[in-house]
Amino acid sequence: MTIATQESDVLDRVATGLFIGGEWVEAEGGRTLVVRDPSTNRVIKEIADASPADGVRALDAAVAAQASWAATPPRERGELLRRAFDALIARREEFALLMTVEMGKPLAEARGEVGYGGEFLRWFSEEAVRITGRYGTNPEGTGRMIVSQRPVGPSFFITPWNFPLAMATRKIAPALAAGCTVVIKPAELTPLTTIAFVQLLEEVGLPKGVVNVITTSSSSTVSAPIIADPRLRKLSFTGSTEVGRKLIAQAADQVLRVSMELGGNAPFVVFEDADLDKAVDGAMIAKFRNIGQACTAANRFIVHEAVAEEFARRVAERVRAMKVGRGTEEGVQIGPLIDANAIAKAEELVADAVARGASVRVGGSRVEGEGTFYQPTVVTGVVPGSEILRQEIFGPVLAITTFTDEDDAVRIANDTEFGLVSYVFTEDLARGHRMIDRLESGMMGLNVGVLSNAAAPFGGIKQSGIGREGGPEGIHEYLDTKYTLLPL
Ligand code: NAD
Repeated sequence: MTIATQESDVLDRVATGLFIGGEWVEAEGGRTLVVRDPSTNRVIKEIADASPADGVRALDAAVAAQASWAATPPRERGELLRRAFDALIARREEFALLMTVEMGKPLAEARGEVGYGGEFLRWFSEEAVRITGRYGTNPEGTGRMIVSQRPVGPSFFITPWNFPLAMATRKIAPALAAGCTVVIKPAELTPLTTIAFVQLLEEVGLPKGVVNVITTSSSSTVSAPIIADPRLRKLSFTGSTEVGRKLIAQAADQVLRVSMELGGNAPFVVFEDADLDKAVDGAMIAKFRNIGQACTAANRFIVHEAVAEEFARRVAERVRAMKVGRGTEEGVQIGPLIDANAIAKAEELVADAVARGASVRVGGSRVEGEGTFYQPTVVTGVVPGSEILRQEIFGPVLAITTFTDEDDAVRIANDTEFGLVSYVFTEDLARGHRMIDRLESGMMGLNVGVLSNAAAPFGGIKQSGIGREGGPEGIHEYLDTKYTLLPL
């Protein structure tokens, strides 16, 4: 079967409706939205475009299913997730192709995301049966203290376009494990993978109303009434800090529990004692994975002046050899950016850096023709104050600035309102440990360029977010702690 036939088969199988109360239904008034392939800009699917009333209907369904899902034995909740994991891995190729077509990432990376996204299903299938509490005597010796954990309740998820599968499973799996029902609104640019994943959940026995999906081109008007509804108990958002701030403000009216996975501006610090082979390998993955469109993407390469030129030479050589093209083509490492705005942003940031004195070593412009492609780029000699050091680039541009000593490196690395992840390359163990304490971020890669793992707590500090996804911590985002006292 040709790749084109496989693509159309995969796209044909994706449902076109909203998923509410276990039924696939049309949006109010039969409204639809179109989804495009960013590598060609062609329409690949037309799906339901939910109204605010559709959103509230989805919440009605989640509320109706909450009590019985919370009462479902943890083992059964876990086994549903485990069946979903097995089914997803068995259909890895289909899900990878769908993601590549709607989002643009190279097929090899899409396969990796199926593995990564799937691991949240497996991990939380195992965590569902480990929700525990405490029992003890109070210090006065007059009472018995019981601490138990209850599901938070109906939860609303808003997810971004850059990791269409993993951002959905990272929220749905812990919520289901904890006994919470869900309404999920995927990004309008890449909604198909979430729809296909929920079809898979349905096939492996998802009870009606436990997960509901609304796709819409009017994110804010559809989300606002759900967030304002007193029956909602939890809002979990992954996306930009700008939108996250607005959602926190809306959530404040209900004093809603929130989890926020927001933007980043990751420093990638290369000390003079670093193993440069490791640093270059780490840089390539930390920068160019997902075409640079990751919240964890290295945004600022802060390199000791003694090794900066050699580091730049080596990364430039690797970047020059990268293959740009449609993600389905063999050997492609750089697919399209998500849309024309992303191209414009990369162009503006590079132009600003160059105007302030930086040099473009490789790339530096868009690729003319169909689709939204930008060349993988290396910019050296970036001076403090450049916009490229302040904003999330979200594209395949590797920007290098230099430092002179450790205090200087720490000051530059922490000079941002973000605090998601930092990367440090050094062969000095004591220095590595000092960096764990000194760098202001929720996560750190020490001599590694990629660190996400379902067994680890993913999340940021400062304006990069609130809460953690994955690890033993992940399920607590969906549990309330209850303390009970009874006489001894
Ligand atoms: P975005 O904030 O524009 O959109 C994210 C989601 O929010 C989409 O579903 C969108 O439709 C919806 N949305 C937008 N405005 C809204 C509003 N006013 N009310 C309700 N919903 C609204 O972000 P994006 O462009 O899709 O994703 C890129 C951003 O996501 C980057 O900043 C990136 O760093 C961040 N991100 C963070 C993580 C993390 O885990 N920290 C992971 C992936 C992406």
